[in-house]
Amino acid sequence: MAKKQFKAQSKRLLDLMINSIYTNKEIFLRELISNASDATDKLHYLSLTDEVARNALKDNKIKIIADKETRTLTIKDNGIGMDEKELEENLGTICKSGSLQFKEEMSEAEEKEAVNIIGQFGVGFYSAFMVCDTLTVKSRSYKSQQAHLWESNGVDGYSIKECEKESVGTEIILSLKEDTEDFKYSDFLEIYKLRSLIKTYSDYIRYPIVMDIEKTKEEGEGEEKTNVTYIEEETLNSMVPVWKKSKAEQTEEELNRYYKDSFFDFEDPLFTISVSAEGVVSYKALLYVPAKTPYDYFTKEYEKGLKLYQSGVMIMEKCSDLIPEHFRFVKGVVDTEDLSLNISREMLQQDAGLKTIAKNIEKKIHSELKRSLDNDREKYETFWKAFGIQLKYGAIAQYGIYKDKLKDLLLFWSSNQGKLITISEYLKTMPEDQKHIYYACGETVAKINSLPQTELIKAKGYDMLCLTDEVDEFLVNVLREEEGKDYCSINSDKADLIDEEDEKKTEKAREENAEMLNFLKEALNISDVIISKKLKSHPVCLSAKGGVTLEMEKYFASLPGDDKEKVKAERVLELNPDHPAFETLTKAYNEDKEKAKVIAEVLYQSSLLIAGMSVENPADFTEKLCSLL
Ligand code: ADP
Repeated sequence: MAKKQFKAQSKRLLDLMINSIYTNKEIFLRELISNASDATDKLHYLSLTDEVARNALKDNKIKIIADKETRTLTIKDNGIGMDEKELEENLGTICKSGSLQFKEEMSEAEEKEAVNIIGQFGVGFYSAFMVCDTLTVKSRSYKSQQAHLWESNGVDGYSIKECEKESVGTEIILSLKEDTEDFKYSDFLEIYKLRSLIKTYSDYIRYPIVMDIEKTKEEGEGEEKTNVTYIEEETLNSMVPVWKKSKAEQTEEELNRYYKDSFFDFEDPLFTISVSAEGVVSYKALLYVPAKTPYDYFTKEYEKGLKLYQSGVMIMEKCSDLIPEHFRFVKGVVDTEDLSLNISREMLQQDAGLKTIAKNIEKKIHSELKRSLDNDREKYETFWKAFGIQLKYGAIAQYGIYKDKLKDLLLFWSSNQGKLITISEYLKTMPEDQKHIYYACGETVAKINSLPQTELIKAKGYDMLCLTDEVDEFLVNVLREEEGKDYCSINSDKADLIDEEDEKKTEKAREENAEMLNFLKEALNISDVIISKKLKSHPVCLSAKGGVTLEMEKYFASLPGDDKEKVKAERVLELNPDHPAFETLTKAYNEDKEKAKVIAEVLYQSSLLIAGMSVENPADFTEKLCSLL
């Protein structure tokens, strides 16, 4: 019997696939099982109307047989089967089935892309050649009494001949390649390996995937006791995925178990969102928010994304396009039949169906979080502790394009209420005459509360947001304003915390002391020395001019690399004119300029300490301090 050649473009792709150092060889099993499942589906469908098909219908299972002696792996189904013509048509032209449409001539870039596609979705049947030398297909169509055997080594074509086969269906027999140093093909004959591959890729195939497993049991009594081995058929897949069940059928326990098994968490998830959407794009999804920050969450290793299934077959382990960056902590699965998967990864990103799903999912996550924020604050705070920082980064990302989506989910520490509140809660309790949303930055709430600058706001009774995360100051800069009230640092000269009379008094003092302030500024070599509008009982405080604040400087200083020296706040020393220290300073300025310099230096270094920064030269500082005592 003459060998037949594969059609030209098929051969090309076949070579490409077999010879590409393709790392995901194991997906061949998923492809073959998926074909077996499709073939069984088809027979089922036909049996609804066709007597012949109905008679051919029997035990619908997919059997895997691993034979170490012959080094073969067989995938056997009781599906629709193929006759000679169908074997020729279906298996003689790679990709004919529409999984992929290839051009006759592929450019190098296209070839690369082709290999990508193989990786992403497989090319079905032919992926078997990644692991076998000879591929044998025994098939009998439900319409025929005669079975046929198709055989190929993937290189020089294929042959078809008649053969014996008792029942309707198809057997795919793979003669595995010899093991090499790089790859142990014989692993595919190990039960543990097959079990785990089926669990990973084909768990939700709707027919049982079975294997004969050798087991032992004890038989007899006392002296007579012996171990007997026997064979038991075991089903390796769980068939109905929990997300495919109706909401009423999904138990919390089952949902949690699926989460823990699939996403390797020991703890139950904090939120579980079950989605069943019907419409232009129909899909089911299960979304989970972990209860704790995953250990690798802030590392490069962490990859966002949802598992993507099409009709029970997993086609992508982490489809990152389904989850926006700011919700990257969400794990889960999406199952849909409404994607055109005869496309590459790049094209999948453009897929309208996928975009619709992603948009809906984002909304679902947002509304679930918002609901918890409104109704179960304790739970939300648990979430906030784990992922609040992610939402903050999300709100500042790309100059704040997502801030409006995220700001109602943000929490800030309220100094008056002593707990976390939302921005709208802050606005609600704000007195009418208050002009700004006040905030103060510092390492901890306690440190913020001990800042001299907080005295005035406390005296006024206004609330202030205590910002303790590095990202916070960037965040309020991006948020800018709420209902016409801007975010204002208590450090700002425009904080409007003193009344008009005091304001005038300060202005006057600034004028009267202009010469001395200028002298001190030169002596300290800082951006400015001013009479403060913020101090009540403390002698000094430190603030910054321009765009870079003290907190930003601290943040940049904490980063690795050489750039940190470049970001420096323009320091301003603020003096309290009502404090005895100011009087002493003025006196010294009039009588002994050198002494005034020393006093100014001591005051300035003290202001650094209060601001949570370090004294520039501790020994010098101590010496100057002592010289004044
Ligand atoms: P796809 O599964 O994407 O259609 P394949 O290359 O895997 O592409 O298979 C090509 C065709 O061969 C299928 O469309 C189907 O008609 C047929 N086929 C493959 N496996 C089986 C099987 N186990 N039983 C019946 N037909 C099969």
